[in-house]
This record gives sequence, C-alpha cells and structure tokens, in this order.
Amino acid sequence: MKLTLVAGLFAGAAATPNLDVWNGKSLVKVDLSDLVTREAFHHLEESAGLDVWGHGRDYAEVMFDDAIADAGFKYEVVTADLHEHFTNFFASEPVCEEGKERCVGSSTSFKDLNTTIDDEYYTQYQRFDTIVAKMDTIEAESDLVEQFTFGKSFEGRDLKGFKVTGSSGFDNGKKVAVYNCGTHAREWIPPAFCVYLVHNLAAEYGSDSTITALLDEFEIHTIPITNPDGYEYSHTSSNMWRKSRKPNEGVRASVGTDLNRNFEYMWGTGGSSSLPTSDSYMGAAPFDNPESRALADYWNSLTNAVVQMDIHAYGGMWMYPMGYKSESNCRTAADKRNCGVESEADFNAHELCGMASKAAVEAVNGYTFDVGPIPYVIYQASGSTCDYAYATSGIRWAYAIEVRGNNFQPPVSNIKLSNAELYEGVKAQLECIASTLILEAAGVSLKLD
Ligand SMILES: [Zn+2]
Repeated sequence: MKLTLVAGLFAGAAATPNLDVWNGKSLVKVDLSDLVTREAFHHLEESAGLDVWGHGRDYAEVMFDDAIADAGFKYEVVTADLHEHFTNFFASEPVCEEGKERCVGSSTSFKDLNTTIDDEYYTQYQRFDTIVAKMDTIEAESDLVEQFTFGKSFEGRDLKGFKVTGSSGFDNGKKVAVYNCGTHAREWIPPAFCVYLVHNLAAEYGSDSTITALLDEFEIHTIPITNPDGYEYSHTSSNMWRKSRKPNEGVRASVGTDLNRNFEYMWGTGGSSSLPTSDSYMGAAPFDNPESRALADYWNSLTNAVVQMDIHAYGGMWMYPMGYKSESNCRTAADKRNCGVESEADFNAHELCGMASKAAVEAVNGYTFDVGPIPYVIYQASGSTCDYAYATSGIRWAYAIEVRGNNFQPPVSNIKLSNAELYEGVKAQLECIASTLILEAAGVSLKLD
C-alpha cells in the first residue's frame, strides 16, 4: 500500500508539462481574408516552420515569428505572454480576473443545461487512466453499455471504445453511429464528450422518449482517446503536443505523425506536410502509425455504419468531405458545392444534417458553428479521417468538427457546456439521418433551400 502511494505521488509530481518553453512567446491572429494572402501564408507556414494553433475561414492563430512581420502580414496579438497564460492555467490556485473568459476555474454562470448526468468527472480534464477507469464504471452501471478494444497504440496502450444501444441489444442490424475524440493530443475538451455521450444516453434511455427511440434504432459507438500516447505526453511533457509519439526514422529527435493526415484516401495530395518535424506531418506512408491503421480497420469491420464523426478543438466548425480538395475550388459562398463530395445526394445529406446539428447546438447557449466542406470552412487537409470514412469505408455521413472555445485547453467551465451542446447536435444529426433514409426509401430526394 505504501509503495503504491509513493508511486502515485511520484507520478503526480512528474505530470506537469514543461512551461519554460513558453518564455518570450506570444500568440497572434493573422488576417487571411483573401485567397492570395492565405496561399502566401500557407507557403510561409511550411518554409518557416510556423506553429499554427487555430485556423478559421479568414484567420490563423499562430505563435509569433519574425517571419510573419517581415512578410508584411496583418496581425493582432491574442496572448501576449504564453508563459504567464499557461502558468496560470496549470496552477492549482489560478489567478482569476473577473470576467476574463480564459481564466481557469472562473465561475462563469451558464443557464441550466438540462442534462441528466451531473458528475464531478466532467469538471476537469482527465488523464488516460482515469478515462479508462470511468469507462469501466459506466459499463458496470448499465446493461446497455459494452466496451471493446480495437488495437494498441505505438507505446502499447489499449485503443478502447465503448458503445450503447437500446434493450434489444447489439449486432441486430441497427444503424451504427461512430464518434471518435482525442485524435490530436492537445485538444483536451473532446474526450470528455466521447465519455459523456455514452454515459448520458444510457442514463436517459427509458425515461426520455427521443433517446429511447434513437437507441432502439441506432448503436452509438465512441472512442474517447484515439491517440493515447500523444494525449499523455501533452499532460506530462509538452502541453501543446499534437501528433502521435512514433519516432520518425532517420530524422534526429523528430517524433510523431499527424494522425489526421495519415489516412490512405488521397494521402499526401495537399494540406499536409512531408517534413517529419512539421505538426501536420503525414507520415512516411499511409497508415504507418498503429492508431490510424486500427481506426480504419475498425470502421471497415462495421457493416451498417451510417455516420462517423471525428471531434476536434477548437473554433466552432461542423465540416464534411472532401478535405483533399483545393481551397481555390470553393472559397466563395457560391462555390461551397465544389469542395464537397461528387454525389449530389450525399452532398445535400451532409449539408442538411450539418445544418440540423448547427441549429440544435445554437439553441443550447447561442454558440454557432460554420457548416461546410473542410476546404471551404477551414483549409485543405488530405489524408484525413473524414475523407477516408466516406470514400473508402463507405460511411455515408462523415464529419469532422471543431468544438467551442478559443484555445485547445479552454477553462474547465467549458466542458459541461460543450458536452451539452454536442449532445443536442448529435441527437439532431441522428434524427436527420433517420428521416433522410426514410424519405429516400419513399423516393423523395433531398433538396437544399
Ligand atoms: Zn484537431
């Protein structure tokens, strides 16, 4: 017992990431509102090795580098002192200024979120072992929940998912909906949702008529941590780590692949990097990381999956394929269609159910998502989960979303709110999919307004 305690304390002491790397560093927001500027910026990003954190349709949030000013880009300062920012974030007694959104532990008052589960677990960011333990507890408490293991990470951690369905049980021809979180290590808020979704669905089955109907029609699968090695590394060593932890051969001190650029469909065709040191490194070959290979194999093993959604942070974007298409195809509002999938029916299906989710999320607390193909909403990204799930695994509705917040690790007060928003977004998505399939079976084709 004593030994366990000592080991536990030691693990706790070692668990603080190194914040000295942020001395003298600041985060700026670069204006990318025209296509020429965007293309120039992406070129500089690659050549100067810029560290881009956030990206929207008209801006990028990036660690300041003299090259940005030298090239004449317009920018404003978002966080002047990242060392101070992260020191405050990781402090056990954070210094909170009244009304400052980024302040950890601030008691921002949200209206009643109307969720069934109210659990201390969702009041802080959790480590991998705690997440796994929570999945065990939820499975033990509900007859409707089962776990599965679909592979091992590079460092040997189990790749685990869990699923929930109505009382008639699994594997009886129901439609399958798959949600995965934690593909990018530093994005700490989505994994909370992948646990919460199963947890709250199981709790509401039998008492909430909408949820009961949905779980009688669908199996819901979630994978809380797709990239467990990177996730743990972001907690213990480098808090802004994004990639996997597999070393890159022949490149000294270079570790990790961007798993969301490592999928086989249209791999390496733009919006990913062949430089192993880059944060968007696509790998030496498609699926040369065990985590991406296992996730694809798992999707391909499903016979009746209708939706797959990869959940990221941050910025409020609800996106769908095709990520590999060039932004120049669709960077005007009228051309949204040109970056989508070829099939008009499938494009309409993605757009319609994306808009249904957007409206449902907005009704919770006014937060809005941008909906559209990946290159239209954010930027070109080939080798993504989303394109592969649609084009190769044959999962008709494939989404990749960026959830609320203006940071990869926003104040923990965002966790419950994000969970409540995404829960409504997923409910609306599943209702939209179910009704679309019924209409199509009756010969009615989808039309957009
Ligand atoms: Zn991400």
